[in-house]
Amino acid sequence: MVLETRAVEPFFKNGYVLGCEETREAIVIDPGDEVEELLSALTEHQLTAKYILLTHAHLDHITGVGRARRALGVPVGLHREDNFLYEHAVQQGLMFGLQVERQPPVDFFYDGEGPWRFGRYDVRVLHTPGHCPGGVCLVVQKQNEGKPSLFVGDTLFAGSIGRTDLPGGNLETLLKSIRDVLFSFPDDTIVYSGHGEPTTIGRERRSNPFLV
Ligand SMILES: [Zn+2]
Ligand SMILES: [Zn+2]
Repeated sequence: MVLETRAVEPFFKNGYVLGCEETREAIVIDPGDEVEELLSALTEHQLTAKYILLTHAHLDHITGVGRARRALGVPVGLHREDNFLYEHAVQQGLMFGLQVERQPPVDFFYDGEGPWRFGRYDVRVLHTPGHCPGGVCLVVQKQNEGKPSLFVGDTLFAGSIGRTDLPGGNLETLLKSIRDVLFSFPDDTIVYSGHGEPTTIGRERRSNPFLV
């Protein structure tokens, strides 16, 4: 799988481009302020995007959606329960003292697990609320082979967990999502978070101070 990560100030939120090495189909996950770099990565790898998929709708994960959608002409997916956050992008920006443009409406809500497909890869969507009501984990796996990789948004980080003090956040719900959904994957499953470096399920299961 082609995998490119980009993060820029002020939030240093990870935006991802995932591509199928055979068919050159791709997805973009959480385009934010680094959207131009994600678009460049698509071009560099000669990839054609099929979807823009959002892990959740906090400001840092959506500020590049409009730009990406205009450039790529592909549908944007989000969990229904985060649409209230998505529609309040401008107000979210004001909380950080930032002027943010309103984003175009999403094209579809995740309706069940999927899968959504790019080339030989499947993306399953697992609801993992707690950091926000509509947070999801995107489970990416090559069809009929290979191990899944998890794109968890801000639910779980290397050595930490997502904050739960924003609207719709709940600590108990978050811990339950991590234990019941994320920790159901094997220890060697790689976790790509919304911020910071990748980690593994095993490492977090053993050493994450919020979970041991
Ligand atoms: Zn967030
Ligand atoms: Zn974030």
